[in-house]
Amino acid sequence: MKLVVIGTGYVGLVSGVCFAEFGFETICIDKDKNRITELEKGVCPFFEPGIEELLFKHLKKTKLISFSSSLNESIKDADVVFITVGTPSRRINDEADLSAIWEVAEEIGESLKHYCLIVTKSTVPVGTTRKIKQIIANKIHQENFDVVSNPEFLREGSAVNDFMRPDRVVIGAENEKSLNIMRELYRPLYLRETPIVSTTIETAEIIKYAANSFLATKIGFINQVADLCEEVGANVQDVAKGIGMDKRIGSKFLHAGPGFGGSCFPKDVKAFTAVARKHSIDFSILDAVNSSNKERPNKIVEKILKVKKFNPDSTIAILGLSFKPNTDDIRDSTSLKIANILYENNIKINCYDPIAMNNSKLLYKNFQYFSSVYKACEGVNAIIIGTEWNEFRALNFHKIKMSIKDPIIFDLRNIYEPNELKKAGFLYYGVGK
Ligand code: NAD
Repeated sequence: MKLVVIGTGYVGLVSGVCFAEFGFETICIDKDKNRITELEKGVCPFFEPGIEELLFKHLKKTKLISFSSSLNESIKDADVVFITVGTPSRRINDEADLSAIWEVAEEIGESLKHYCLIVTKSTVPVGTTRKIKQIIANKIHQENFDVVSNPEFLREGSAVNDFMRPDRVVIGAENEKSLNIMRELYRPLYLRETPIVSTTIETAEIIKYAANSFLATKIGFINQVADLCEEVGANVQDVAKGIGMDKRIGSKFLHAGPGFGGSCFPKDVKAFTAVARKHSIDFSILDAVNSSNKERPNKIVEKILKVKKFNPDSTIAILGLSFKPNTDDIRDSTSLKIANILYENNIKINCYDPIAMNNSKLLYKNFQYFSSVYKACEGVNAIIIGTEWNEFRALNFHKIKMSIKDPIIFDLRNIYEPNELKKAGFLYYGVGK
């Protein structure tokens, strides 16, 4: 089978190289011509562990992957076309902005001349895949194609591994023919006994939003429990351990911190509530998750400013800028939100991140960027650990102590034991303990 993947972002490029790894000839398309030129040279547009090796292998050795900015040309021999373009939040309301999806659907309709299976892999509100079908059908005036919803669950930072070893593959299809094509595509995973959840198109679309919203709810919940723990002298990490051992609850996504960020959770929770609103369904649980998470960076800054009144010429070092470790993605990064609120409070910001500084420099030009943790911490009035990169887990605090002005640390990811830092001569503040 020949595949076309539209969009070479985190999902599209990972899917493309992984399908090539499964043995399929794959053409990846993007409307960003610079991105395509770089990809043709084997240069990945973002940081993602393991992706460059696979890209190199299938670009130069097996030649199973290629890149193009012409959908019209690439679709000619395609059996399956994946749509993996972005679906960000619309600025005016909480709905998903589907303009890229509609644009791609129109283009497919204009180019399609033979039977093809069109697969929605982007995260989209329920009803979108059927609308894609309608748009294509209106253009080609025939029904010789099928649509399928196949939401993606990979996580940035471990995307290649997640794609290769998913917990499950969800396929929302409306007939056996398209379901069988999808089963054939995912056969290498099926042989590894990955469960395939076969549903209707609408159910598959809802599964994706429900999964992300549920995980976001767990985070929102434990963060509010953390606030209570701080008031009453309890320890949220022990609470999370105590409840997480209950198999009905599970220990994942119970880490208290500065709130959830990234390119998916915030926008997906909002889009899911917007869909519910449209259908007059009460989604007050998610409304609460959304609003408490939105307020969280402000609350964290309030707590920081309560600990110390920083003078206008004070500087705080922020360690970690990406929304989570092992990615250079800073979309909706809570670490950067907190840094920005502090900056608006006349505090200077020193930054360090192993990978994400170039992306941050484009948006936050007034921060100072340093080539190491130790340089970023020289002469500062406090340190904030914003993202739990592994290289922050065993810092030399004796070295930092010698050059820091005020030894105060706000460990927003709870990666240190308070006593350890107190012994090193720091005032330590974690979250919920
Ligand atoms: P992204 O922003 O990294 O990439 C989207 C790509 O699509 C960009 O390269 C853009 O240039 C391209 N594009 C936009 N319009 C186009 C068009 N008309 N023709 C060709 N290319 C076009 O997005 P992403 O993070 O990969 O997310 C894509 C989708 O997958 C979203 O719906 C997202 O919610 C979902 N998703 C993302 C993740 C994640 O971790 N990033 C995980 C699961 C699902």
